[in-house]
Amino acid sequence: MDLNTYAFSQQPGFIETEMRKAFKQAVPLRTVVVYCYDPRAVNIPHAVAKAMPGEVYPGDIVWEQGKKVASTTTIFPVVVAGGRAVDALRSITVAQHLFGIENIVVVHHTYCGATSFTPEGLIKAFQSEQGVDISALYDRANIAIADYESSLKRDTRLLRESKGTPKHVNIYGYLFNIDTEALTLIVEDRAALGRHNPPVGPATRT
Ligand SMILES: [Zn+2]
Repeated sequence: MDLNTYAFSQQPGFIETEMRKAFKQAVPLRTVVVYCYDPRAVNIPHAVAKAMPGEVYPGDIVWEQGKKVASTTTIFPVVVAGGRAVDALRSITVAQHLFGIENIVVVHHTYCGATSFTPEGLIKAFQSEQGVDISALYDRANIAIADYESSLKRDTRLLRESKGTPKHVNIYGYLFNIDTEALTLIVEDRAALGRHNPPVGPATRT
């Protein structure tokens, strides 16, 4: 079996820029949703699609000549422990490159496992169980969740300040109630409003 058969870059006549144009047409991606791999949180992208006008999830796969070639979804999920943004940075850069994005939504959820331990507790247990010191491996503030407001504020700021985040995207931080499946907006960082320039109020409009 020649595994290269399945790689776009190994096809005869491959041109990277043309391939990228084709990818841009394949999925009408708008929004990356970062959330936790807790199985109870599986409906988060559906809830985001309901909460944000114009979003489609999971959409339909488009088939052509026996091959899956596209999708009608506007949402790509990035599923990581605690929904912490640090694990999503590279995926956001790649999503922008291939499809283009308009929004990033970070969702943390009630009764998350990430609130059940501390960075120190995890580092200590790993040392004793695996015999390895990982105290310098991760930024402590990204390991667990001490309180939701801080974690959502930190993660939306981390995304905004990452060089790999396109400047034009809007960034939102939501809390998802795992039992009622309700979303509560905690942080809204709209690119169009400007982070340091407050929007022009009605009184000063002409
Ligand atoms: Zn969780």
